[in-house]
Amino acid sequence: MQLNTFKPTLEYAKQLDQEDSLSSFRDEFYLKPDSIYMDGNSLGLLSKRAERRLIEVLNDWKEQGIDGWTQGKHPWFSLSEKLGEMSAPLVGASSEEVIVTGSTTVNLHQLVATFYNPKGTRTKILADELTFPSDIYALQSQLRTHGYSPDTHLIRVKSRDGRFLEEDDIIEAMTDEIALIILPTVLYRSGQILDMERLTAEAHKRGILIGFDGCHSIGAIPHSFSKWDVDFAYWCNYKHLNGGPGCVGGLYVNKKHFGTAPGLAGWFSSKKEKQFDMEHTLTPADSAGAYQIGTPHVLSLAPLIGSLEIFTEAGIDNIRAKSLKINHYLMYLLEKELSDFNFTLGSPREDKKRGGHVSLEHKEAARICKALKENGIIPDFRAPNIIRLAPVALYTSYTEVWEVVQTLKKIMNDKEYEKFKNEREVVA
Ligand SMILES: *Cc1c(COP(=O)(O)O)cnc(C)c1O
Repeated sequence: MQLNTFKPTLEYAKQLDQEDSLSSFRDEFYLKPDSIYMDGNSLGLLSKRAERRLIEVLNDWKEQGIDGWTQGKHPWFSLSEKLGEMSAPLVGASSEEVIVTGSTTVNLHQLVATFYNPKGTRTKILADELTFPSDIYALQSQLRTHGYSPDTHLIRVKSRDGRFLEEDDIIEAMTDEIALIILPTVLYRSGQILDMERLTAEAHKRGILIGFDGCHSIGAIPHSFSKWDVDFAYWCNYKHLNGGPGCVGGLYVNKKHFGTAPGLAGWFSSKKEKQFDMEHTLTPADSAGAYQIGTPHVLSLAPLIGSLEIFTEAGIDNIRAKSLKINHYLMYLLEKELSDFNFTLGSPREDKKRGGHVSLEHKEAARICKALKENGIIPDFRAPNIIRLAPVALYTSYTEVWEVVQTLKKIMNDKEYEKFKNEREVVA
C-alpha cells in the first residue's frame, strides 16, 4: 500500500468511506453520537446481533428452564463446540481443534498444566519480557506448582528497544533446557506480529512445544495455526471479537495432541455422550473440547454467537484488508499533521509485522489521553507512555480517523493536556 496516494483532506476521508466495502457493518454496532471509539482492541463494542442473541438465550432460560440445555434456540450443552466451529476459520484450524471456554488466563493454566512436561534437563519455560502480566503470573505459579523457582525456570527473552522482539533472539533462547514456549501472536503494546510459522518450525526442530496467546490478533488478522503446526493457542473474545466484558475465551489444540489428558480436568472435559453417565472415570472428548473444565458461562457465551456471525459474513481477509488500509491512513495523517510534537511511532511500519492498532509514544501520553477523552475520543493508554489507537475494520470510519488526528493536533497546539495530571486512571 502506498502512503503517498492518500490525501489529507476531509473530502478524501469521505471518499474512502464511500469506497469501503465493509461500511455497512458500522450500522450493526451501537456507536455513540459525538464520540469516536478507538479502543476496540481493548473492549470491542456491542453489536445489535450480539445483543439479540443474548436476549434469545435469556428467553430460552425464561421459557424452557433446564430444557434450554438441549432444546433452546442455541442449545447450551453444545454451544461451546458450536462457537468453536464458528471461530475455527479465524485461527485457521479445523472445527474440532477449537473450543470456546474459560478465559485467557484460565486457558493458559489449562494448557500449561496439560503440555508442560519437565523431563531430565528440559525443565524451563520460555516467554518474553514484553508479554502481558497475567501470562507471566500464570507461568510463575505453574512453575511453583511443579516445585521449580520462576527465578531460574522462567526465561524471558529480552527486547532490544523495549518495543519489539527479534525472532532471532527468541530462537537463540530455545536451548535444550526449554520444555515449553509461550509467546504472544501480537504484542499488546507495540502491536508487533511475531512470525508464528518460523518460531513454530524452529521450536519443533529442537523438540520443544510452542503455544501462543492470541488476544490481540483474534478477529484482527488471519492465522493458519493448523498449517503452521502450532501446538496450542488461547485468546479472549472481548477485544477485536466484540463478545462483551468478560466474554468466555477460546483455545486451540492441534489435533495431533488429541488424547493428551487435560491437566485440569472436569466433567465438561468429557466426551459429550458419556458426560451424563456420571462415572468416576473421565472419558475425555477426542477434540479440543477435552480442555473444558466445568459448566460453561452461558450468558457470557451468548453475545459471541451474534458477533461471530458478523465475522463469518464480513470475512477475516476483508477485515484484515480494511484494517491495514485504515491503520495506514491513520499513520499517514499522524505523520503529516503531528510531526512537530515529539510523537514516536511505537508500532512496526511493515504490514506483515503490524496487528490491528497503532501505538504512539509520548512523554505526556497519560494526560494527552485524558484530553482526548474530554474531546469525545476514546483512546487507550498503556503505561508508561503509550497511546494505542485502534481503528476497527467493522465499525470505524475513515472520517472518524481524520477527526481523531485533527483533534489530537488541536490538543497539542493548544497544550490542552496541561489541564490534567500525567497519571493513569485505575483502568487504563
Ligand atoms: C487481554 C489480555 C489478557 C487478559 O486475560 P483474561 O484472562 O481475559 O483477563 C491476557 N493476555 C493478553 C495478551 C491480553 O491482551
